[in-house]
Amino acid sequence: MKATSPMVLFRCPHCHAPLPEFTGGEGGHVCSQCGTTIEAVEGIPLLVRDRQRIVQAIQAAREDGRAAWYDQPQDIQLSGPYRHHIAKRIAYVKQVLTRHIDGLGRVPIALDLGCGDGNNLAWLGDLPVTLMASDYNLNRLLRARRRAPGIRLFMADVTDYPMLDDSLDIIFFNHVLEHIPDDTAALREVYRILRPGGLLVLGVPNEGAFFWRLAYRLQPSVRANSDHLHFYTASVLEGKCRECGFIVQETHALGWGLPHWTLDALVRRWKWVDDLFETVGKRLFPTQATSLYLILRKPDD
Ligand SMILES: [Zn+2]
Repeated sequence: MKATSPMVLFRCPHCHAPLPEFTGGEGGHVCSQCGTTIEAVEGIPLLVRDRQRIVQAIQAAREDGRAAWYDQPQDIQLSGPYRHHIAKRIAYVKQVLTRHIDGLGRVPIALDLGCGDGNNLAWLGDLPVTLMASDYNLNRLLRARRRAPGIRLFMADVTDYPMLDDSLDIIFFNHVLEHIPDDTAALREVYRILRPGGLLVLGVPNEGAFFWRLAYRLQPSVRANSDHLHFYTASVLEGKCRECGFIVQETHALGWGLPHWTLDALVRRWKWVDDLFETVGKRLFPTQATSLYLILRKPDD
């Protein structure tokens, strides 16, 4: 079902009927079609069909000793050893988005899909876009709320997304796909909610590459504790995206390092090392970068 007006973007997570009166926020919202109440916590609507299933999955991970996947604050990315690499990622994506927005000539609706603790909301929010963000982890959404109080946040399941078809101009889907069991279902859902001609910026680790498979082999404990379910190469991921209907506009590799997790984190905390690896790696090992960004378009109608 298509979005009927620019303001009606959301659909009921239970019956998929459009939610024309839905404004989000406190107090919940009753779906006029199926009568289900959509609850909200601290102003964050829970737009998921089965919240208990998500709560149980997180609880199971906690009991399994994998609580960090869900609970550990993500600020470390901005201050930790990979901060120079993260800055390069942001600079690249900013430039891609700015070029796209300039070409549109209007204020687009953009979504940070799987926003986590909201690390990217500040710089995304500085772009001339109407920004929204979702995650399926309420703990992370509450942290994101504190970090970016003005941005519309909601809880959502990426494989059954609470938005109507063709709703968004831009989707930033950053280091999320490798965590999702049915990644193809997620990509199909992203395709559905993107407007024709819309832009998807898809970032993943390049962990299918030889360097990073080697790093995991050298440190099997890192592999055992990783919450990654997929280990993509550029060509595998491009193939998946094309299967889902996307046009691959550009595949950008960035970040080079040593194929050993501990050593890599040790040396890349220095900017000059990260810069040097970038220059040398790009030339000598072009397929072995740490990160991939795919710039994808949904074909025009
Ligand atoms: Zn409903």
